[in-house]
Amino acid sequence: MPRLYPGHGAGYRKLPPLPADHWALAEWCPACKKVFEAGDITTMVLIGPGDDPEARRLAREGKAYTGVAIVAHWACVTGEDP
Ligand SMILES: [Zn+2]
Repeated sequence: MPRLYPGHGAGYRKLPPLPADHWALAEWCPACKKVFEAGDITTMVLIGPGDDPEARRLAREGKAYTGVAIVAHWACVTGEDP
């Protein structure tokens, strides 16, 4: 496991509670492995450009690109209570 420090989650955007029809309810949080439930407070964590060649090129050049992100619980990313 990588060693992280307080404030690692700074800059993430807290999303509104998951609505009952949100697509993420069929998934689980990659950090705690618990299935998302309606009302959970989450955030998006950027992974990177994924396998898109154009996105990879833009990332290499330090330019904005459309990347791949995952949903995770706000508390799992920041340590903060929701
Ligand atoms: Zn979690």
